[in-house]
Amino acid sequence: MTIHNAAQASSSNTDNRLWQKLWKVHSHPRCKDLIWLACKNILPVRANLLHRGVQVAPFCPLCGDKAEFVSHALLQCREVAPVWFASPLSIHIPVQDEIDFSTWLFYMISNCDSSTTSTIFEISWALWGRRNDWVHNSRQLL
Ligand SMILES: [Zn+2]
Repeated sequence: MTIHNAAQASSSNTDNRLWQKLWKVHSHPRCKDLIWLACKNILPVRANLLHRGVQVAPFCPLCGDKAEFVSHALLQCREVAPVWFASPLSIHIPVQDEIDFSTWLFYMISNCDSSTTSTIFEISWALWGRRNDWVHNSRQLL
């Protein structure tokens, strides 16, 4: 086994443990599905739709300022980050730093209790639903 292979195996083992933790989180299956799509970077945000050849503007439909990547849609949008801070978790999301959603989530899963992790899943679900209501039903953000 080469050093590169050992690093990959170690990383893979860590990933597997994190995925196992993720699936054990006490949360509704729809929330887990959303988190899985987000972590695999296949959530249909604008950047991913463009990557798949769908003709859409790349900008976030909520703020219109930045490209809508998963981390932007669920964490860093100026319409989203305050929700995390105002939540019972009081999570401060840095909006300027580049954040990878799965890296952030796995850090949170590794460092938070199960109740907090469940709440993170539910907030993510609510934010995605609110975003979709805005995009598909033209509902106002509250
Ligand atoms: Zn935005």
